[in-house]
Amino acid sequence: MRYISTRGLAPACNFEQVLLTGLAPDGGLYVPETLPEFSRQEIASWSGLPYDQLAFRIIKPFVNGEIPDDVLQSLISDSYKDFSHPAVAPLRMLGVNEWVLELYCGPTLAFKDFALQLLGRLLDYVLIRDNKKVAVLGATSGDTGSAALEGCRHCKNIDLFILHPYQRVSEVQRRQMTTVPGDNVHNIAVRGNFDDCQRIVKTAFGDQSFLPSDRQLVAVNSINWARIMAQIVYYFYASLNLGGPLRPVSFSVPTGNFGDIYAGYLARAMGLPVKQLIIATNKNDILHRLISNNEYSLGELEPTLSPSMDIMVSSNFERYLFDLFDRDADAVTAFVTGLDKAPQHLDDIRWKKARELFSSLGVDDKTTCEMIAEVYKETGFLIDPHTAVGIKAARVCNQDTSVPMITLATAHPVKFADAVTKAGLENPDLPAHMQDLFEREERYDILDNDIGEVTRFLRKHL
Ligand SMILES: *Cc1c(COP(=O)(O)O)cnc(C)c1O
Repeated sequence: MRYISTRGLAPACNFEQVLLTGLAPDGGLYVPETLPEFSRQEIASWSGLPYDQLAFRIIKPFVNGEIPDDVLQSLISDSYKDFSHPAVAPLRMLGVNEWVLELYCGPTLAFKDFALQLLGRLLDYVLIRDNKKVAVLGATSGDTGSAALEGCRHCKNIDLFILHPYQRVSEVQRRQMTTVPGDNVHNIAVRGNFDDCQRIVKTAFGDQSFLPSDRQLVAVNSINWARIMAQIVYYFYASLNLGGPLRPVSFSVPTGNFGDIYAGYLARAMGLPVKQLIIATNKNDILHRLISNNEYSLGELEPTLSPSMDIMVSSNFERYLFDLFDRDADAVTAFVTGLDKAPQHLDDIRWKKARELFSSLGVDDKTTCEMIAEVYKETGFLIDPHTAVGIKAARVCNQDTSVPMITLATAHPVKFADAVTKAGLENPDLPAHMQDLFEREERYDILDNDIGEVTRFLRKHL
């Protein structure tokens, strides 16, 4: 298995190389040259496996023998052993053929723990083995930061720098990042929005000359292939627990950077019978506008009650475009870079192809709150605003009610008190391991929205 760039101008890499980097040197994202495919029989034979053993089977072909099997299995098992539910990713029934997959049983209460617990362990293993040190640099709209810090803070060979948009993440989210102890942990609040943070990170990755010569940057955003890889697993797991692969299932995925839903797209391409994939967005709905209207254009980024999806340009969409454009890297580059100058459109055949695969919906804040209240009234189950966006989209876009529809519940509601209060409901208590969150000491630096300031800060702290 080799990995190639969506922009076509970077050399192919092995697994360790994609793990230890971010964007490809040509500005593209790495994707596997060929996807592993599993037969229905093989998938069926995995039914009843515990989460970590299923994960090993799905992840193994991507790692390509570069980590011994027994080590890989133990890194995976360790990653999920402290999740608060024995199923790791439990399914909950809301109604007839209506399910949610609870992906918030990890240490930071959002689905990002699935990828980042594993990423931290994979990095730790290869860095110690190769006697290397790296700097992790990431931008977060809220949940990535804490999950990355939790996943990597014990790695002696990593210094962590996490950028978040100043005053645009929830208080719980901020405290989850800024109270993480350790000399290798640095939180930076940037005076700007998430896209500004993401731009700084991209620029820093593009020119790493500011780093000491024995260091390189590693990405923890979903541009890092290993994150996507880890997320493919729970699509298989959910299906297997609902009668798959003998019958298809559908997924509704609250998405911002297109990372989570891209993992679902890959699961389908690897052989999992998936009927519908629904892109659920908030008012920052560039993907919904493309799918529904064939218009891919920039807009104003609007803060919403589902801040982890407040993203204008979804980086991982480029990985899907690479397939949609039949792996024509020049066409991908033109489409993606053209967006800065003018709205982009797909030709009719490609637009139709995208629409056959994906449905989409943009959900505003008012509807999000109504959904939180409605689901609570129907079932007594309290959902977070991202999950609410997903359930709304699932209900509106569902094309076949005889197929189980699974919404990914991406975060615990305690992380988004604002939305829960606005829905007229009472906030749940912090889980036991976070009881003293509001008493812990916070540490972070506030920097201007300026690449030079950020790179100087890194240089100083390495
Ligand atoms: C990150 C995040 C999302 C969006 O995930 P993508 O990788 O952008 O698809 C949705 N919900 C929550 C709670 C998140 O933290």
